[in-house]
Amino acid sequence: MSPSLYVHIPFCLKRCAYCDFVSSIYNPEKETAYIEALKNEIQSLKISSPLISLYIGGGTPTALSTDSLSDLIAHIFKNIQFVKDAEATIEANPGTLDKKKLEIVRHAGINRVSLGVQSFNDNELASLGRLHTSKEAKDAVYLIKGAGFENFGIDLIYGVPSQDSRSWEETLNTAVSLKPKHISSYELTLEDDTLLYEYVKNGKMKLPSEEEIINMYNYAIDYLKAEGFIHYEISNFAMPGYSCRHNLNYWDRGEYYGAGVGAVSFIKGKRFRNTPDIKDYINTVRNGDSPVVEAEDITEDKALVEAIFLGLRKAEGINLEYFSKTYKKDILGLYSKEINELLNEGLIVIEGNKLKLTRKGLLLSNEVFTMFM
Ligand code: SF4
Repeated sequence: MSPSLYVHIPFCLKRCAYCDFVSSIYNPEKETAYIEALKNEIQSLKISSPLISLYIGGGTPTALSTDSLSDLIAHIFKNIQFVKDAEATIEANPGTLDKKKLEIVRHAGINRVSLGVQSFNDNELASLGRLHTSKEAKDAVYLIKGAGFENFGIDLIYGVPSQDSRSWEETLNTAVSLKPKHISSYELTLEDDTLLYEYVKNGKMKLPSEEEIINMYNYAIDYLKAEGFIHYEISNFAMPGYSCRHNLNYWDRGEYYGAGVGAVSFIKGKRFRNTPDIKDYINTVRNGDSPVVEAEDITEDKALVEAIFLGLRKAEGINLEYFSKTYKKDILGLYSKEINELLNEGLIVIEGNKLKLTRKGLLLSNEVFTMFM
């Protein structure tokens, strides 16, 4: 399997209340220094075979100026070889897009946009601390389509304060009416050290109940399937042929290179992590040194566990034959006790050569993963 490349842009126009990603507020001076460092790091990557995908994520990559973005993308395609028809995604957020920026990005070689919408309900957007309204999110979709992108996705979050089943259904309905090729639907995770965590802890905001959250997830699965989407991963849905190849490579434990602050690479069984500090990243790369601050050998045991829980994330599950060839282990024998228990509880199922989560298992996936760890 060919590797992929992730490029991290750590800037946003505003910090969302639930965010714990490596990102800071956009500032043009930092942008120039960061892009220079990033270009140097990309140039120094020793990549031996053509890559299957590029993913420019963040942060908010489209918070960058049009000039910086086009410069960066041109640099990537000049220095790195990709397979023909490689998937090239950029993450975008409403409020950071215009027609010219999108057209330039598309002409530079990006063929897929992943738009962070989260909700089409203005109260929910406000409680998440998002920069934009529902109307601005729809306008962003029209801009993306108008710029000629046929492959775009919408990211949504459920389990948001003040959200109920009705508003979630309306959000999904609006998303589908905009005809994206891909929809991600993630349950809100309350991370420590975020504003939202404080609000919920202090009783200023209240999350929906567990039962409501389960209903929202179930509704998303049934509704999106009925609308023609394939539920190909726990939180991801795509029209046929539009699953995200970049993320599939990750779930298949394919190799990937990561460039930028906090970026992670996984090459030849080792995982490398870049410094999460922007200043440190810029200075280190400027001095010609490597920004990697952590290197981890993935032992056989770790690889095995990773392959199980990443494989089970996919709707098609784990291919048992491929698994035993790759990891030289018989998963059914190795975990016979756990697997029997999970089968009895109706959380997993074995279909032919595949071991996969049931609907109940999808809802309780964390409990299933814990059994293998
Ligand atoms: S746009 Fe994304 S990365 Fe930026 S602050 Fe919001 S959640 Fe975090």
